[in-house]
Amino acid sequence: MSRRAGRGLRIDLHTHSRVSDGTQSPVELMAAAAAAGLDVIGLTDHDSTAGWEAAASAAAQVDVGLVRGLEISTRYGGRVAGSGTGVGVHLLGYLPDPSYPPLVGALSRILDGRTSRVPAVIERLRALGIDITEDDVRAVAGDSAATGRPHIADALVRVGVVADRGEAFARFLTPGRPAYVDRHAADLREMVGLVIAAGGVPVIAHPWGRGHDLASLGEEQLAGLACAGLAGLEVDHQDHDAAARESLRGIARNLDLIVTGSSDHHGAGKIDHDLGCNTTDPAEFARLLDLATRNAAAAGRAAPTLVAGGG
Ligand code: AMP
Ligand code: ZN
Ligand code: FE
Ligand code: FE
Repeated sequence: MSRRAGRGLRIDLHTHSRVSDGTQSPVELMAAAAAAGLDVIGLTDHDSTAGWEAAASAAAQVDVGLVRGLEISTRYGGRVAGSGTGVGVHLLGYLPDPSYPPLVGALSRILDGRTSRVPAVIERLRALGIDITEDDVRAVAGDSAATGRPHIADALVRVGVVADRGEAFARFLTPGRPAYVDRHAADLREMVGLVIAAGGVPVIAHPWGRGHDLASLGEEQLAGLACAGLAGLEVDHQDHDAAARESLRGIARNLDLIVTGSSDHHGAGKIDHDLGCNTTDPAEFARLLDLATRNAAAAGRAAPTLVAGGG
């Protein structure tokens, strides 16, 4: 309780654990959130809700409010279905029913795509004379539900090919680099509808961040997505400079979208993404919770709760 005394709530709505490509277990992440003075934290692993249960017990222990979320790999524009066209967009889904069958199905297709990409990337690395195996990747990925390029990067660090994840991405793993391989992503509009149907709240993560095309996700496109039910934009994110944040805030105001902020923390996996480095305004968070309550009611579910404090 003392953390809350004399100031507003500190709310960080986008973080990763080892369930995807963070480097902390959900339990370690909750302890780190308390240590960082956060009152509320959103756990948003890539394409998986597998960390929710462990995070919930830990959050109750350390008295941090937990927002159960996930970050869904989607594609927007162009022809969908693995053709490689369209722009990759990360969609944050807050407080959806994780057992809603269409959501479970969509996530399992994405996770399958993640798994089948690993040998394809390894093949390309081998063509460059770099020998790592699927076992090497499994060894660093541990029990991650969502194997990603960061794990391949970690395997490259382990064999001494690169110094850190950043170097692995820059030299090999980003589009245009020699070991980049595309993977399946769900259609953005469909996933916006699906998160709502599951009683959750859809928010676009880092809309103009790295790997995203500003021109392809401008106000006109965002207005169309808002009509389809998009509820918010993650404005305060390390991938956005001051000008991008100001423009996005204006668009959110015009379209009546919720504005969120977050660290997109990945433990030691990403520098300059410390817990609480960006936060969400408590009034915007209240809007998000209110919408979650209404969407849950419309989906025939009980109102979602935070685990401890903050709400
Ligand atoms: P994937 O999930 O396999 O598509 O890999 C993308 C993920 O890698 C992103 O969500 C980030 O978490 C992470 N990532 C992207 N670029 C970098 C980088 N330069 N250094 C560390 N992690 C990165
Ligand atoms: Zn990530
Ligand atoms: Fe992301
Ligand atoms: Fe993220």
